[in-house]
Amino acid sequence: MAHVNENYLKLPGNYLFATIAKKVEAYSKAHPEANIIRLGIGDVTRPLAPAIIDAMHKAVDEMGKAETFRGYGPEQGYDFLRQAIIDGDYKTRGIDLDLDEVFVGDGAKTDVACIQEIFGDDLKFAVADPVYPVYLDSNVMFGHTGEWNAEKGIYDGVVYLPCTPENGFKAEPPKEKVDIVYLCNPSNPTGTAMSKEELTNWVKAAKENNFIIIYDSAYETYITEPDVPHSIFEIEGAKEVAIELRSYSKCAGFTGTRCSYVVVPHACVAYKKDGTAVELNPLWNRRQCTFFNGTPYIVQRAAEAYYSPEGQKQCLADVEYYMENAHIIRDGLTEAGFTVYGATNSPYAWVQTPNGMKSWDFFDLLLEKAHVVTTPGSGFGPHGEGYLRLTAFGTKENTVEAVKRIADLKLFK
Ligand code: PLP
Repeated sequence: MAHVNENYLKLPGNYLFATIAKKVEAYSKAHPEANIIRLGIGDVTRPLAPAIIDAMHKAVDEMGKAETFRGYGPEQGYDFLRQAIIDGDYKTRGIDLDLDEVFVGDGAKTDVACIQEIFGDDLKFAVADPVYPVYLDSNVMFGHTGEWNAEKGIYDGVVYLPCTPENGFKAEPPKEKVDIVYLCNPSNPTGTAMSKEELTNWVKAAKENNFIIIYDSAYETYITEPDVPHSIFEIEGAKEVAIELRSYSKCAGFTGTRCSYVVVPHACVAYKKDGTAVELNPLWNRRQCTFFNGTPYIVQRAAEAYYSPEGQKQCLADVEYYMENAHIIRDGLTEAGFTVYGATNSPYAWVQTPNGMKSWDFFDLLLEKAHVVTTPGSGFGPHGEGYLRLTAFGTKENTVEAVKRIADLKLFK
């Protein structure tokens, strides 16, 4: 008799975005005339940049000729892309990395969910609250939490780091003993970003208290303020305590193309039960070699083209386009009376609900009265209650229209 992984049964409901999609579908069916604008899920709308498309066409042609055809590639990624990553994302910021410290993947969601496999079964972890749900849900599935505590809306055994207006929505190092901490900077969902000083405190805390930081910088390209680091490795000593993940989804529109990378520095170690230090890099290498057969060649050529001068120019123009939307949301809703956070170093605006309304109630109100889809903050953790996340990934026209519709509800008059 096969037994199920009962950890899956601890998950109380559907994946957040599946629940939203169901609600929106039901509303659309009942009101086919409604012109619904989606500022909910963080999916991009701009097409791939011409430099990336050119590189993909070229790679497709190579695949059609025996002399240039590629089969299985290296599980860690082709050297041409690993080198482009080091040169484009790190050398320019004064960070040295070895080629074998960079692992190309097929999406940060996969990478961030799987990285925990190289740590012990008794892993204790901390997450910001609210946070990108994958960190938490994947740990539940791996059995790294207790039961779902419906009364408190949290899992037993998890260390939650509250992000509130009082701390600027920036998680502070845990007081409890943990093995790893997931940090997302700039943060999804709150759109806020930690400064160099704040991140330096984190690295110091990780060293003093012996935990590893899993640093997700999927939104790095959206940073506009000079004191926000683009990589945790800008902080001295971070290589000893941090693993960094990045994605091409939001910087180059790869949500449907799929490419990412993980940096596991050789200096980063965890421990055997007898106290012996073990490098994490060869463990992640072994994991990838066994579980993963590499990101498609065509996609890796596409990612390489992101680092070309034309690729950079074209992709940054798209990021600027989205950031203009972010400012339209931030400024328009602030003018309408809302309290809005984020949207300065991030494509996300974190909007406080009016009059203490619950997140899902305000989500329903905006869907029904403004035909605007948002994401309820409570879906990202208990401290997300009372907020909504709005994304800047729509078209400018739709963003302007959505903000106008919400402002026209005159909820503060
Ligand atoms: N990490 C964060 C913080 C995200 O918000 C997302 C996607 O929204 C991801 C990772 C997933 O990225 P990818 O598309 O590369 O799987």
